[in-house]
Amino acid sequence: MFRIGIDLGGTNIAAGVVDEENKIVGKASIPTGLPKPAEGIADSIKEAALLACENAGIDIFDVAYVGVGTPGAVNADGVVENDANLGFVNTPIRDLVAERIKKPVFVANDANCAALGEQVAGAGKGTENFIAVTLGTGVGGGIVIGGKLLTGVNGAAGEIGHMCIEKDGRLCNCGNNGCFETYASATALVNDAKEAGLPVTCAYDVFKLRDAGNIIAASIIKNYISYLAVGITNLIDIFQPDMICVGGGVAAQGDNLINPLYDIVVKKRYTKFSKKQTKICAAILGNDAGIIGAANLGE
Ligand SMILES: [Zn+2]
Repeated sequence: MFRIGIDLGGTNIAAGVVDEENKIVGKASIPTGLPKPAEGIADSIKEAALLACENAGIDIFDVAYVGVGTPGAVNADGVVENDANLGFVNTPIRDLVAERIKKPVFVANDANCAALGEQVAGAGKGTENFIAVTLGTGVGGGIVIGGKLLTGVNGAAGEIGHMCIEKDGRLCNCGNNGCFETYASATALVNDAKEAGLPVTCAYDVFKLRDAGNIIAASIIKNYISYLAVGITNLIDIFQPDMICVGGGVAAQGDNLINPLYDIVVKKRYTKFSKKQTKICAAILGNDAGIIGAANLGE
């Protein structure tokens, strides 16, 4: 049977029909159209789902269930407790979508869905214990243990970006100091470069300058990767996953990022369990990960 995966974002709602091999066979994207009430967002989710079916050339009757990845923490009843951007406050998004689509609906946090997607069909295919770390505006992530998403007591597990790595460190948007994302996000890298007077607007610019021989850019990237290594090492120490997969804009650097990171994590810091090492890889699915992960929430 086919499943539909929905990636609910503040700007767009992306829907994909996923087949039994976890391939996306039809996609659709429509504007979320904020601000609007949750009922209106659920209407748009249905619209995107039907459009994806049309593009896949299938009927909604051929769909087993719908999975939705949404911002915010999602409790076991499919209720989003709070998301400022979407205007969700104790919003029963699972039931709102199920009423409209008349199919079983499963809901999870969007970053967690992306991690699950990468685990079942991307870099982590074949792994059981897997962690995704996404380096973007912040640092997102998700933890899969024994093939299942770790959701935590209120559906907000896997907030890797808010793991503290400097007790009195940089102030984070969440109100705490020294969160991983204040050092390891793409935003942090760009801010560091700007503060050093480099003419950059994105993470790619900093790497480009470094590759052109700029010493300041080289030192900023070295420092950035050293902080990234602290967070990744913490994750390995706690979870011992088969693989940690790094995604987001910075990960587009591929081996340029992964190799020096691996050198610090495995060769310098992480030598305690040398027989079986955690693999560190770049993500490969990009934005499709969220759709594929959502489409696997009912498995
Ligand atoms: Zn934080």
